[in-house]
Parts: sequence; C-alpha cells; structure tokens
Amino acid sequence: MTVLRVILGDQLSTRLEIVRTADRAKDVILMAEVGDEATYVKHHVKKIAFVFAAMRHYAQALTQAGYTVRYVKLDDPDNSHSLTGEIERAVRHLGVSEVQVTEAGEWRLKEAFEDLQTRLNIPLTILPDTRFLCSHDEFAAWAYGKKELRMEFFYRHMRARYNLLMDAHGKPCGGQWNFDKDNRQPPVKGLTAPKRLSFKKDAITREVLDLVRARFPDNIGRLEPFHFAVTRTQALKELDHFITHCLPSFGTYQDAMVTDEPYLYHSLLAAYINVGFVYPLEVCQKAEAAYRAGAAPLSAVEGFIRQILGWREYVRGIYWRHMPDYADMNVLEAHEGLPWFYWDADTKMHCVKQAVTHTLDHAYSHHIQRLMITGNFALLAGIEPRQVHEWYLAVYADAYEWVELPNTLGMALHADGGIMASKPYAAGGNYISKMSNFCQSCHYDVKDATGERACPFNSLYWDFMNRHRDRFKGHHRLNYAYATWDRMGEAKQAAYRARADAVRHLMRQGEL
Ligand SMILES: Cc1cc2nc3c(=O)[nH]c(=O)nc-3n(C[C@H](O)[C@H](O)[C@H](O)COP(=O)(O)OP(=O)(O)OC[C@H]3O[C@@H](n4cnc5c(N)ncnc54)[C@H](O)[C@@H]3O)c2cc1C
Ligand code: SF4
Repeated sequence: MTVLRVILGDQLSTRLEIVRTADRAKDVILMAEVGDEATYVKHHVKKIAFVFAAMRHYAQALTQAGYTVRYVKLDDPDNSHSLTGEIERAVRHLGVSEVQVTEAGEWRLKEAFEDLQTRLNIPLTILPDTRFLCSHDEFAAWAYGKKELRMEFFYRHMRARYNLLMDAHGKPCGGQWNFDKDNRQPPVKGLTAPKRLSFKKDAITREVLDLVRARFPDNIGRLEPFHFAVTRTQALKELDHFITHCLPSFGTYQDAMVTDEPYLYHSLLAAYINVGFVYPLEVCQKAEAAYRAGAAPLSAVEGFIRQILGWREYVRGIYWRHMPDYADMNVLEAHEGLPWFYWDADTKMHCVKQAVTHTLDHAYSHHIQRLMITGNFALLAGIEPRQVHEWYLAVYADAYEWVELPNTLGMALHADGGIMASKPYAAGGNYISKMSNFCQSCHYDVKDATGERACPFNSLYWDFMNRHRDRFKGHHRLNYAYATWDRMGEAKQAAYRARADAVRHLMRQGEL
C-alpha cells in the first residue's frame, strides 16, 4: 500500500503530517518544479530561484534521511508542467493506493486538488497545514458573531492562547497589549543598518541559477547577487542574526525608510517562514526569550511578535473567509493601469524609485515601503487592484496569494471596503518626508502641492479624499482631513484637483 505524498514548494517542513507519518520503506514523496506555478504570474527571477533552490535542498535532505523522493525538475522532458498533471503521472507510473497532499495556500490550487479528487480513481486526502497558529475552525470561532474583524482583538486573543508576552496573572507583560507609541520613530540622521548574512552558493544553487537564467530571460529582477538561505539550518542562522543584531531596534525603526537601505532592522524572515523553513511559533518564542533575557526591549519584541502572531495569522483568516470573491473586489472603482515604473523604477519620484529598485534588486522591500510608497501611490492614483495584486504577487520572494492578496487589496488599496481596515492607509508627501530621508534627494518638492515640481503624493492625496468623501466622511480619524479640505476654499481645491489630473496624465505618459 504505497502512498504518494505531495509536497509543494511552500511546504518545506518536516513537521507537517505528510512527512511525519510517511513510511520511509514504502511511500513516495513527490516534489515537482512545474511551469504552471513558475509562470501564473511573471515572478521575479530571484523568487523562482529561491523556491527551486529551497525545494532541491529540501528534497536532498529527505533523501539523505531515507525517504524515497520523486523529484521532477523543470527541464525534465516528461514534465507535464502542472501539479495535478505530475500527480496523475506519478499515480500511473508508481501504482500507488492513495495520494495525500497538504492543503494549498492559494484558492486556485485548492480548487485544482478538489477537482483532482473527483477524477482520480484512488483516494486523495487533503491534510491541514498545521504550521499556522490559528486553524480555519479557530478563526471561524473567533470571528463568529462579530460585526467587524479587527486585527488588534484577534492579536490579543492569540497572545493569551499561546501565552506569549503574558505575565503570571494572565495579563499582558508591561501592562498593555500594544507599545506602538514607543515604536515607529523617524530615522535619525545617518541611520545605517547592521550587516546582513549572505549564504554561499553550493552546486545545487548554482545549477538552479543557471536554469532560471536560461528559462526566464524576460522576467523582472536581478538574479545575482543571490544571498538567500536555502535550507532550514541557514534560515535559522538568519533568525539568530536578526534576534541578536536587529530585534532590539526593530520597533524604533519599523516604519523608517532610508535611501539605499532596503532592510534596516527588519527580519527578512517572511520568505523562510512562508516556505516552511522556520516556524512562526519558534520565531515568536525566540523573540520573547530575548526580551526575558534583557537582550531586547519589550516595545520592540511586542511589535515584532504582533506582526507574526497577529497580522500573519489574521490575513490568512481573512483570505480563506472571503475567497474567492475577495480577489475581484474593487469598491473604490479604481481603473487606472499599473504605471510602467513599477517594473523598471524609471520615475522621478525618489521614494517610488527606491522602493521599486529595492524590489528589483532583492525581491524584497520592507513593509512600510510596500504599504506607504508603492501601495499608497497605487491607492491614491486609483490603480486597478487586480493589476497591483499581480505585481505584488510577482515581485516578492515571500509572496503567496493567501498573505499577499489581503495585504494588497485590503490593507494597501482598501478595495475590500473595510473588511481589513476601517480606513484607508492614504497619506500625502508629509508622511513620507517625516518617516524617510527620501524627499531630500527628490526631483519633486514635498512642501508644494500644485506647482510643476509639486510632490505628486500631495495633490493625489487630496483628490483621493475628495473623490471618496461620501464613503469616508463619517470616520472619526478622517474628520480632521475633511475639515482641512473644507477650509481650503474653492480656488485652492480646484488647483489641487488640476494638479492631480496633471500627475495622472504624466503617469500615463510615463513621465512622472
Ligand atoms: C501591499 C503589501 C503586500 C505584502 N505582501 C506580502 C507577501 O506577499 N508575503 C508576505 O509574507 N508578506 C507580505 N506583506 C506583509 C509584510 O510587508 C511582509 O511580510 C514583510 O515586509 C516581510 O519582510 P520581513 O520578513 O523583513 O518582515 P518584518 O518586518 O521583519 O516582520 C516580521 C514578520 O512578520 C510577518 N508580517 C509582518 N507584517 C505582516 C503582514 N502585514 N501580513 C502578514 N505577515 C506579516 C512576516 O512573517 C514577517 O516576516 C505585504 C504587505 C503589504 C503592505
Ligand atoms: S517629494 Fe514626494 S515624490 Fe519625492 S520622495 Fe518625497 S514624497 Fe516621494
């Protein structure tokens, strides 16, 4: 009774049931690099290389541990280039009695597996993905009866559930749940970041880089230098490096942005957590241990744990609760095309140029660049959510739809009408100027809103607020903005709107 056990490229974890319960003598593990997955959006070359290199190293480790692995490479001449095609091919060749898969992280694969279940003439069992800290049932139970699903309350629930940063009386350490007021400082002058690890490329990684170079010549991004960890051991080194050198300042500079500093004090762990190399709980527990040992302040550790225990689990809950309709939501009726500078960084807006350049170079940019630079611009300019979503899904090494879509469509674009956030994360140039040193090197003037050199974010911000007044006017945190707009008077308002039109025109012409 041989069981075919399928492991996807983002399921590289030996703690999953699919591996834990495998019979090493009889069962076969199937892993496949398929064209469908590599091309359903035009992924960044570094993302493809990272996933394939991680898969090949993981397969090698399984083989060394005594498992039988059927590994189908991208350039295998018999490769059907679809996951279900490879499962069917393996079933035919191996004569297995059952197929097992771990639930996929994307809706389209969930459907593909369910469809395959009806076509195979042997059982196909879909196992839960136990790497997450909140199961689908637990999220549904938490959400039950609530009018609004706010992350902050979900996060408190999860803190108590996992006893993270809780004191002996069941209260949050330090007497409060959230230390944001101590975090999120602007960068100090001359702020630089700690040196980051770079992992040496072995023969497997070099072979993958050659493959990607040959097979994806037109995809975006720089393939080399390639620094990624490609094994759990290496990813754990990245985690330790972060805890020692970056975590203490994580909170303070969480929202700061600095020219030519893509990483600052961020962990760089999302790509590794998402493929399965490191576990969310072990990351949170290591961070907590640093606090308890006096090696990192509570504000930094709380802010960091909130991202993983709170945001990461929460967005997954939102994704599965609202798919498949979620992907088509566009409540702000945004229909502009994605400007070309998202692909080549060719813009005079220094902040956007920096965020896109970091993205092209590293398949990474940190959260505030994603949210408040590229996301904020797309929101204000009214770019169609599906195009923005496909861009984010393509360009980041950590991007999988379950986590990327709610962040893009819900958090950055407010296209879900407030399922994720009660108000849009919209901001003019002032915010960017306060939280970065970008404006000092920009062609545009952040203090101006209407002239030819006026910062595009300023007029776009006011135009956006004005266009969506009916939707947002009742929100208590936006009252001040609308009062300011009303005080401007008609002539100034008209000038802002005219400049916003001019900015959109320049954007469409590729001259912004
Ligand atoms: C428009 C947009 C798109 C995004 N797309 C993705 C994506 O495709 N994949 C992805 O993993 N994250 C995504 N994020 C969330 C976040 O920006 C990244 O997780 C983070 O920048 C990754 O860098 P890091 O590992 O250095 O994170 P850190 O800043 O060090 O944060 C620590 C960890 O917290 C988790 N985390 C932090 N914020 C979030 C969040 N909002 N949602 C989920 N997890 C979070 C990640 O696991 C991250 O590794 C997106 C955010 C925005 C605004
Ligand atoms: S002036 Fe405006 S466009 Fe230029 S960096 Fe500042 S916020 Fe960005």
